[in-house]
Amino acid sequence: MMAATYPIGYATQRVSMAELKRRYEPHMHPAMARRIFPWVESMGGLVGIKDVPGCGGGRRTVQPIKPGFAPPGKSFHQDQRFASGIVAYSAWDLVVGTSGVHRSPTWAETATAPEYGLHTFISGEPWHIQCIEIRGWGTWDRNGRPDPSMDFPLPGTPPPPPQIPDGALQYNPPTDWWWFPLDTNKPTLREGAQDAQFLGHVRYVQDAIFFGAGGGIARDGSFGPQMAQRVRDLQTVFDIGVDGGVGPQTWGVIDLIVAGLVKPADPPTAPDIEQVSPCRYWVRPGDSPWAAGVRVYGSGHAGAEALAASLFAAPNVRIDIPTIKGVKTTVKAGEGPYAILARVGAPASALPAFYDWNGGEQRSLHPGDVVYMPLTG
Ligand SMILES: [Zn+2]
Repeated sequence: MMAATYPIGYATQRVSMAELKRRYEPHMHPAMARRIFPWVESMGGLVGIKDVPGCGGGRRTVQPIKPGFAPPGKSFHQDQRFASGIVAYSAWDLVVGTSGVHRSPTWAETATAPEYGLHTFISGEPWHIQCIEIRGWGTWDRNGRPDPSMDFPLPGTPPPPPQIPDGALQYNPPTDWWWFPLDTNKPTLREGAQDAQFLGHVRYVQDAIFFGAGGGIARDGSFGPQMAQRVRDLQTVFDIGVDGGVGPQTWGVIDLIVAGLVKPADPPTAPDIEQVSPCRYWVRPGDSPWAAGVRVYGSGHAGAEALAASLFAAPNVRIDIPTIKGVKTTVKAGEGPYAILARVGAPASALPAFYDWNGGEQRSLHPGDVVYMPLTG
């Protein structure tokens, strides 16, 4: 058997895992190293690192000053001092190449990265991968520069103690935008509002203004005087009541702005564990009409049948679920309900709910089945 090799540079070369580690593990944060190499290995040689002179997709000692790059000193491609005292880089730019022709990975191709504690949605760049705890540089810096965990449970290692994932509504700008306009029950925001209480809504307004209405606003999740002024500007331009707060009418304007900015989230396939927003449910081939139909319309409702007939013939459609949030995941070989609960981070006491939502105790779970775990509270 030939050992796998991995593309580097513009995918014009391929190197062994040992060589990949020799070149890129030094100076890398150990938690990142613990995750990225097994993930790259799990991809079987499809992905590697697009590290090319001039824009260094690995560790950068000099940050390019050009559009699309973080300001010098604020890139995770550069060495950063973490709370532990570790000084290291912790980001890669990926390349896909199987025949010397390079391209960026697709969202679908990086869909397994979260299982390894990595994510690729930072700045909407599917090639940029970093530790899942770290979102933007500013947030990380403000939070005291926490190290990514050395205990992230990698596939094949025992799962962590069950805990309910918080923040099912957490907002990850800008890729989560697509569902915010669908939420018709947004809180009214006034000066003084903080995102800790408002689940990303303050930042959403700031991003909408920043990207879609002239900018000039700090995107910090904190509703201060500057934001109140920008909201007043917006209200003046759109000729609605000018009060500097964000109520239903102003939300309408914000959503309108955002609708012009966002494209629906890729990927074509749902990630392994999908957080399901209160508004939408992603139907995949193999999904169960009876389950999703009942979730949407309630048991015995004619709408459930209509839904099954009209939507389930088509793969990968999203349908509205008005009130329920949760997580969805795909059954893996050998997994039973307890293993799945542990994987999605639900306590064993959630078993009755699991049965309720997934066809009862009598349903056999097969690899590839999609199951759903509603979150309560
Ligand atoms: Zn990058």
